[in-house]
Order: sequence, then C-alpha cells, then structure tokens
Amino acid sequence: MTQHIIIAGAGVVGLALAWQLARAGGRVTIIDPEDPASGASYGNAGALSQGSVAPLAMPGVLKQVPGMLTDPRGALRIPPTVLPRVLPWLWRFVASAKPARVLEIAEALQALQGNAIDHHRMMLAEEGALDLLRENGQLQLYRDEAGFAKDAGSFSLRRRFGHRFEILRGAALAEFQPGIAPEYTLGVLLPDQGSSTNPQRHALTFLRGAQRMGATLQRGRVQSIITEGGRATGVMTDAGPLAADHVVLAAGMWSAALLRPLGLSIPLESQRGYHVMIPDAGITLERPVVASDRKAFLSPMEGGLRVPGTVEFGGLKRPPDPRRAQYLLEDVKRVFPAARTDSAEPFWMGHRPCLPDSLPVVGPVARWPGLWCAFGHGHLGLTSSAPTGAVLARAILGPAPNINLAPFAPERFA
Ligand SMILES: Cc1cc2nc3c(=O)[nH]c(=O)nc-3n(C[C@H](O)[C@H](O)[C@H](O)COP(=O)(O)OP(=O)(O)OC[C@H]3O[C@@H](n4cnc5c(N)ncnc54)[C@H](O)[C@@H]3O)c2cc1C
Repeated sequence: MTQHIIIAGAGVVGLALAWQLARAGGRVTIIDPEDPASGASYGNAGALSQGSVAPLAMPGVLKQVPGMLTDPRGALRIPPTVLPRVLPWLWRFVASAKPARVLEIAEALQALQGNAIDHHRMMLAEEGALDLLRENGQLQLYRDEAGFAKDAGSFSLRRRFGHRFEILRGAALAEFQPGIAPEYTLGVLLPDQGSSTNPQRHALTFLRGAQRMGATLQRGRVQSIITEGGRATGVMTDAGPLAADHVVLAAGMWSAALLRPLGLSIPLESQRGYHVMIPDAGITLERPVVASDRKAFLSPMEGGLRVPGTVEFGGLKRPPDPRRAQYLLEDVKRVFPAARTDSAEPFWMGHRPCLPDSLPVVGPVARWPGLWCAFGHGHLGLTSSAPTGAVLARAILGPAPNINLAPFAPERFA
C-alpha cells in the first residue's frame, strides 16, 4: 500500500528527501509556512564540501572561546549577553572535541556525506539541471604556515578518508588564482569538492522533481505532532489536522521545538551566518575561495559574487547585526584588493542549525514509531541534503538504510 509521508520544512534537506521518497513511490506532502528554500537553503555559500569530515570542535577548540567573546570583529562571535543561554551548548561542543570522539564523528560524517557529490549529480542529472553543479574544487587560503598548521588535524582527517588536497605556495598560488593579496601566502586546493552555482535554484530543482513525481507542497505551519496509540499519526497545522503514515521533521532550526512536547530535548543552536551579494565585483573566480582566517567564502554564483561567512551565536530572535555584513565586504578587499564592492546588495542573514557534536539528527525517533528526523546539518546542509534524502528514504520506505544511523540518533543527547 502506498505510504503517505508528511515532511515539515521545505528547505534543501526536506526537498531532497521529498525527491527521494517520491521517486521510491511514496505519497509526499511537504508543509512550510514560508516560500520553499527561503531559509538557510537560500543564502548559503553553495559549497559542496564532501571532504569536510572534521567536526567544528577539534582538540584545542577551548582556546578559541575567549576570542569569540571579546573580539566584536572576529569571524566567530558570541555576544556576551548571549553567553549564559548558550553555555550548556558550548560545554557539549567543547566536550565533543576529545580525539577519540572526533574520529567517531569524522567516520559518521564520511559515511553520510563522503560521496555527496555523486548524489547531487545523479539528482540534478535526472532533473536536467547539471548546469547547477560545478566539479572543479575549492581553494582555501591561509596567511602563513602557522595558520595552516592550526588546521592540521582537519587535513589529516581528510587524508585518512581519501579526500585529496594540494598545497600551493607563493608563485604557484599566484599563478593558479591571480589577484590574491600577497598577505595570503598559502593555498590549499581541494580538487574533489564541488559547488552550486545557485543554492536556491538547486533546492527548487529538487522540489520541481518531487512535484513531477507526485509530491505536493502545502503552505502552512506544523504546530505539533499528533500521536495515537504510542505512534505518530500526523501533524496539526494552522489549517487543521493532517494524517500520515510517517512524519519527518526537516524544519532546520525550528525542528527541536516540535520534539519538546514529545519528551525529547535536542540541543539545537543557531550559528547565524551572513552574506552579501556583489553583482559586479570585477574579479573572475572559477570556484569558491575561502579566507580561512575570516571563515569567509567568496563564491562565484549566478548573479555575481556571493560572500557568505561569519559565525554568530544569537538565537532566532536577536536582530541581525549589519556590522557583520560590513566586515564581509572588508574581507573581500582583504583577499582580492582589486575587487569592487560598490554594487553590493543589502545583506542577508540565516540560521545554520547546529548540534554540538557537528552531526545532524537523521533517523527514527525510537519512542514514537512513524516519527523521523532530518535536521541539524549545521554548516554542511547543502552538501549533505542529497545523501540524507537517499539514506532516510530507504529507512522509511525500505529496503534498509545503507549506512548505520546510530551516530545520528536523536536520543544521543538524552
Ligand atoms: C551563511 C551560510 C553559509 C552556508 N554555506 C554552506 C555551504 O557552503 N555548504 C553547505 O553544505 N552548507 C552551507 N550552509 C548550511 C546550509 O545552508 C544549511 O545547513 C541548510 O540550508 C539547512 O537546510 P534545512 O532544510 O535543514 O533548513 P532551512 O533551509 O532553514 O529550511 C527549514 C525550513 O523549515 C521551515 N519551517 C520552520 N518551522 C516550520 C514549521 N513549524 N512547520 C513547517 N515548516 C517549518 C522554514 O520556513 C524553512 O523553510 C550555510 C549556511 C549559512 C547560513
């Protein structure tokens, strides 16, 4: 019998899942109060970073925290008034940086997203939209060897899992990517990484495909999960109840609130990011360039140069801080002195849904059969959307997930 699956959330994660479920023969209803792909999935950097298997919290991370509190211009920022609320999250974050745990997390990320680009390529090819996918790598910049050495742990994890990288110094860097400021003396080319030329169109392409295969998109807010006889049987929306065989929470930063009434407390925190779009920056880039010291991307996209970056702890309600967008514009000139920023459009801010162990929550809710999670993909949600959709569709409709979902279980925070 055809299974009806409700997906709460039409971001790239919910839409990739909708595509996979519809393709596997499920009847899919996606519900979102906003336009599809208008949250984090709209404004990200477009990087398909399947080799980013190192968690954000690496050994030594504790040393970064004082700087995050005291340097208002820093790329990583915790406004002091926000600190008391986020302290428990930070505590878990730092605790997950133990070497043995870091390796477990990297293994899990590798299993989920180590071949993410294959998934994106397959889906985009079926939708006739391969023009969205660039497969020519990413370039990461460092000012000096000391800056590069700070990321040694991440690169050794990349190497361990077979993700290649090539170090370019001095003249080799200048030849590979002309125009970089001489202050950046070292580049790392990540040839197996990819990027999207338009993250919103990318996500909407998944939606279009899902709709072609029968999925429907409904405007509305999921207010709660309906349970009956010990299982999830549907959702209550602002337009009334809707029954389903399965309910999936794919509502990004807004997912954890829907689980709370069911007795699950998930430490989901927003790492807010900003971007500015520069239609006419006067520089030509073939691939995303990342200024590692500033956590800033320079991503060539349809419509110009997108400059996304910064990590700001501020929750869902605190108003955006326009100064952070200004710093991003300054970063552009710092990396490419010849770039022009005068055509910059008004800035954008969005919420990266982050768990302290850098792993998303993907899989069944053990206590409530019929209820599933697909959220918390943090800095890598575009990358891991397609593989998450593939693995979860198999978990829901069969035959069986092709990776072990235990590391992603919602119960791991109990
Ligand atoms: C500045 C920045 C740069 C980034 N760069 C990259 C990158 O280069 N590569 C990468 O892989 N990732 C990147 N990310 C991360 C990535 O964008 C996110 O992880 C990803 O978009 C999350 O997708 P999502 O579908 O889970 O959430 P979202 O896109 O936030 O979608 C969630 C949806 O749920 C809806 N919703 C909320 N409440 C409800 C409700 N009650 N009922 C129904 N629907 C609801 C919302 O309206 C929204 O549409 C970046 C993020 C930011 C902010």
